[in-house]
Amino acid sequence: MKIAVLTSGGDAPGMNAAIRAVVRYADYYDIEVYGVERGYAGLIAGNLSIMSRRSVSDIIQRGGTKLRTARSAEFETYEGQKQAAKVLSFYGIDGLVVIGGDGSFRGLQAISKNFGVKGVGIPGTIDNDLSYTDYTLGFDTAVNTCVSAINNLRDTMSSHDRVVVVQVMGRRCGDLALYSALSGGAEVVMVPEHKTDYDKISRKLLKNVEKGKQSGIIVLAEGASPLDEVVSELKARTGLSFRSIVLGHLQRGGAPSMADRVLATRMGAKAVDLLRDGMVGARVVGIKDNAIIDMDIEDALNVPRHTNEALYELANIVSR
Ligand code: ATP
Repeated sequence: MKIAVLTSGGDAPGMNAAIRAVVRYADYYDIEVYGVERGYAGLIAGNLSIMSRRSVSDIIQRGGTKLRTARSAEFETYEGQKQAAKVLSFYGIDGLVVIGGDGSFRGLQAISKNFGVKGVGIPGTIDNDLSYTDYTLGFDTAVNTCVSAINNLRDTMSSHDRVVVVQVMGRRCGDLALYSALSGGAEVVMVPEHKTDYDKISRKLLKNVEKGKQSGIIVLAEGASPLDEVVSELKARTGLSFRSIVLGHLQRGGAPSMADRVLATRMGAKAVDLLRDGMVGARVVGIKDNAIIDMDIEDALNVPRHTNEALYELANIVSR
């Protein structure tokens, strides 16, 4: 049996650990693994090479992706997918493992539906925006990176009596902001799932001033409200001294956490097991209540988005 593995979309810590798991778990069962460079673009171009156990040495601890990643407009077309399917059949590949976010999953779904390619998606994105799974690869590491930044910011903000607005990634999903705010002890969290209420936030900050605290941390998911607007609206309402910072690409890099390495290894093995067991169509793996699960890709992509309201409520209560 031969399988191929690629990483696609935004890179996330833990992708390397997942590649390593796929290669080594497959090797254990004498399955040949091809690594595809630069996602679907590399698949269309035929950039495949065999990966040995040795080729994935020394990567479990590295962020980013050894296989590189890319976005490919060509793959979104029928012709692009046809060419990719041709490459897979030329190499005699029986199954494709795609590590990426929801766009990458839609790509896998399309090539499977249109050309009968068998494949398994492993959720790799720091956004945690795939609702069928409790966690995506890279999320835990990214939260830890944000928390570390918040810790540093707290030192200087409290010394100078300033409030800082920390913008983190998350256009539609506020999980990164929510988990970072909760674990960083932030005073305020702003997520796209909740309408911004400047008056309410201002009241909270001014209440802290009454208690003798003029500094604070506001964690803002990029999709909640524009950063400049947040600063100017809150400054006008409270008269406090504000600073802002965009954590940006810092959040994507770094050594994966223990949680991401373990998750990557479990998911990688599950993906190989599904292909070994003769699955059909396209499926995805995930984690629910600490058990590794798998699901039809279409069903997974149709799970409606939901936020952890209880956690949002808790973050607000403990930061009061
Ligand atoms: P992230 O969550 O980090 O952004 P992602 O996997 O969602 O990762 P995208 O850029 O949305 O990243 O998608 C990656 C690639 O998947 C695209 O460049 C494209 O090649 C392919 N893709 C996305 N949507 C589709 C689709 N509807 N049909 C076919 N291919 C798609």
